[in-house]
Amino acid sequence: MNPLDLPFSRTAHDRAAHRRAEPGLVERLRADPTTGVLVVHRGRLAAVGRDTPRAALLPAPGQPDGLWLFLGESDGAAHLALVLPEDGDPPPPRGAAGWSGLREIAQAQVDALAAGEPGAGLVHGLSVEAVALAGWHATHRRCGRCGGPTAVVQAGWARHCPVEARDTYPRTDPAVIMAVVDDDDRLLLGHAATWPAGRFSTLAGFVEAGEAMEDTVRREVAEETGVVVGTSLEDVVYRGSQAWPFPASLMLGFRARAVATAVRTDDEEVTDARWFTRPELSAAASVGEVGLPGRHSIARALIEEWFGARLPGSW
Ligand SMILES: [Zn+2]
Repeated sequence: MNPLDLPFSRTAHDRAAHRRAEPGLVERLRADPTTGVLVVHRGRLAAVGRDTPRAALLPAPGQPDGLWLFLGESDGAAHLALVLPEDGDPPPPRGAAGWSGLREIAQAQVDALAAGEPGAGLVHGLSVEAVALAGWHATHRRCGRCGGPTAVVQAGWARHCPVEARDTYPRTDPAVIMAVVDDDDRLLLGHAATWPAGRFSTLAGFVEAGEAMEDTVRREVAEETGVVVGTSLEDVVYRGSQAWPFPASLMLGFRARAVATAVRTDDEEVTDARWFTRPELSAAASVGEVGLPGRHSIARALIEEWFGARLPGSW
């Protein structure tokens, strides 16, 4: 099988985790003109370019106060994120044209990444990290045990509860996403209840407490479509992962083998599920009868890995 092409998994910087405990690190880097900063507001990034937005890596000095986070370094320069307060409607910082969501930016950057454009991988990796970390801070201002306010420590990589002298760390929620294939080499795709007509994608679901990923794959496929995935080691094979910070998921991609193919959707989450041969999927995607997920997504990568080539169209 070909390796998955996963834009959200491209990283061109060093997180330099050993620096997070340096006293005064963020304050020092804020004043350094070589430091680049990504500015985040309510999960969106300050961006340049209207039609094909790119996250703007701006000079740190002169930026306003807010929550400053250390993202890492590359080529001797440090990179920070600045998270602005959620209330209000701040104008984009100088040097940026507006605010853009990470999905829009990722979609626009797929071509730049594929073309090996200099700097595209760096800014993309920093953007995913910045949005993920900012999202965690937004929902963890208070201690999960005593409810008291927590303070940002370790350059943004932990929050400290002074009452219990306890640190908490950014969380990531594992979710599985799978290309289910039968012994006739057909691919199973589902249509979610909340989607527009014609949209199809791979099945996916969150790993539950105390559950192994392979069991999640089997459980989600059975719950959503009635299809049975085999229990042998070769029936659920890991293919790659992609951070999906909307708000905190890590998508774990699998190829799964169906041993019983009768479809019976749950009609709650998934209202339609179909088996596609390669010619069927190619034809349906070509005429727009089936809309496939965006090219920045692991869902698309899993579908195209099975197909063996690029497919036309996307949401
Ligand atoms: Zn506490």
